[in-house]
Amino acid sequence: MTTHVLAIAGGVGGAKLALGLTRVLAPDQLTIAVNTGDDETFHGLHVSPDLDTVMYTLAGMSNPETGWGIAGETFRALGALQRLGANTWFRLGDLDLATHIRRTQLLRDGLTLSQATRELTSALGIRHPIVPMSDDVLRTVAVTDDGELAFQEYFVHRHCEPRIAGIRFEGAATARPSPGLWAALASATAIVYCPSNPLVSIGPVLALAGVRDAIAAFAGPKIAVSPIVGGQAVKGPAAKMMAELGEEVSCVGVARRYAGVCDAIFIDTVDAANAGAIEGMGMRAYVTDTVMHTDDDKEALARQIVGIVEAWDE
Ligand code: GDP
Repeated sequence: MTTHVLAIAGGVGGAKLALGLTRVLAPDQLTIAVNTGDDETFHGLHVSPDLDTVMYTLAGMSNPETGWGIAGETFRALGALQRLGANTWFRLGDLDLATHIRRTQLLRDGLTLSQATRELTSALGIRHPIVPMSDDVLRTVAVTDDGELAFQEYFVHRHCEPRIAGIRFEGAATARPSPGLWAALASATAIVYCPSNPLVSIGPVLALAGVRDAIAAFAGPKIAVSPIVGGQAVKGPAAKMMAELGEEVSCVGVARRYAGVCDAIFIDTVDAANAGAIEGMGMRAYVTDTVMHTDDDKEALARQIVGIVEAWDE
């Protein structure tokens, strides 16, 4: 059987492994399904931060310093918007705005988010399919000690400072997986959870109607890469959020979160001592260097994962 990997991704961590996978697998061997739970409307424009991070990374346009946005970006339009009285805490660069304007126009023309994404990715010369997790609206809400906050409000405006007591996925009862995600759940030979935030990047995908059940019933290997390395997030609030929710902040905590929808987890060399605990939960643990600094690191990790997928036996 030809290998076909369904990679489930958020933004920065997701994009890194997604890039590695594009170097190992042909376009018809990979589907990258991306979280849209943090999508938001700014200045009347539909912004899909995780889709854009994956798209810019695969197009070779991403800003290596921030991990988000476009390299060499300027913010003149945002400055002008601020002068005109707009709220500008969400940083949108001049070039980035073109993406949101085009996406919003395509959606107004009646295209679905999947169709609009296909237009954008093919215009940028990306050959591997990137699909939104859903064409419907599912919004991640942080339930905090300061009330309920829309995800970008919590993440960007409030710098994740309020303590979280829970996470809610508004619209999850009715939001369906996109056609691309659904097709890949039926035809893929393996599922890979990129090292993305398990709570707010992978969580929304698992919350879509029917997805958790489809993954639980999926016949091929389901393999995760832990975004928690040495008890900390490589970047972002995953560790803080897990701690506030009373979860163990380690690759074991990540494995526990994926119980039932995951067969194996790649953990970092620094966490080798945790392999036994993960295996005790009935999952395989693979120990390797999982922190991806360079494109070669991304490819090397992807190659190891694909190697495991291709050698998998029940
Ligand atoms: P976001 O939506 O932009 O926050 O991005 P993701 O959810 O895709 O990724 C955030 C997670 O990726 C964080 O929990 C990081 O710890 C993790 N991460 C980022 N880079 C790496 C890396 O090189 N290796 C591993 N193992 N995890 C990473």
